[in-house]
Amino acid sequence: MSCPICAEDSTAKYRPFCSRRCADVDLSKWMNGNYAIPSRDPEDIEAAADAAEAAQIAAQKPQ
Ligand SMILES: [Zn+2]
Repeated sequence: MSCPICAEDSTAKYRPFCSRRCADVDLSKWMNGNYAIPSRDPEDIEAAADAAEAAQIAAQKPQ
């Protein structure tokens, strides 16, 4: 099985993802309602991960 985000080998701890980072990216995509077929471009993955982190930080801030 490979990670659906970056296609690296998945790990048992974060399956089907390879890492917490990719699991967070996937979760954020679902939560934002804009899930799309993930790009294999490493720069896009980095951008998506950064966006996911920003979204999580924003979501944790009290209104
Ligand atoms: Zn991954």
